[in-house]
Amino acid sequence: MKLLTALSEGWSNEELKASVEAYVEMQRNERAGHLIIKQHYYSKLAKTFGRSEKAFEQRMQNISYVLSLMGRSWLTGLKPAKNVDADIADQIEKLLTQLEGQKVARIAAFEITVREKARQKNDHKPSGNQNPKPRRVLVTQFQRDAAVKAWVLQQAEGICECCEKPASFRGTDGLPYLELHYVRQLAEGGADTVSNAVALCPNCHREIHYGANAQALAAWLYDNVPRLSLD
Ligand SMILES: [Zn+2]
Ligand SMILES: [Zn+2]
Repeated sequence: MKLLTALSEGWSNEELKASVEAYVEMQRNERAGHLIIKQHYYSKLAKTFGRSEKAFEQRMQNISYVLSLMGRSWLTGLKPAKNVDADIADQIEKLLTQLEGQKVARIAAFEITVREKARQKNDHKPSGNQNPKPRRVLVTQFQRDAAVKAWVLQQAEGICECCEKPASFRGTDGLPYLELHYVRQLAEGGADTVSNAVALCPNCHREIHYGANAQALAAWLYDNVPRLSLD
């Protein structure tokens, strides 16, 4: 447990912002197929803020963790590290979405708190709340073409394109239940086209967003679904 001390102390919003900006820039370059040298980013940040390169590398892994909690993709080689406080994670999530010019219902702080509580011994059953307070949130959505989803579902013929098993249940419409997933997410600049979309069973869909093997699954899809292309 001691190894996972949270890196919360003394990080100013400015430092977090610079880290998130560097992360997003690296991700953009990686997606564009450019070679990125992470060490350069760490050393530049270290010089600017007088903190070790290692500290920035770890912070980048925290950013990967926040992205993974959001169901988003993270940078290759920056394995999500969960040693981040809920409030810092909340700041990171806010900075990420601000940089992308998008609004999302923030989730990272809640999920981190769930995991912290789940690790502790809970003697008391929580009383919860009989009347949970509604909260209005403004979120960014992308306009999608129904024809794209229809075509991809037709191509799949009721079989998940990831695990290649038949959908495990039928919807109320009587059809095998599969979900559309954009391999490069729309929030990350992905296109609403059939070369960026797959039909997945709910299990695979959750795993590709939240699973430890998300990157491997995405790579598998690119290798095995011929209509997918990276551009
Ligand atoms: Zn599946
Ligand atoms: Zn998806």
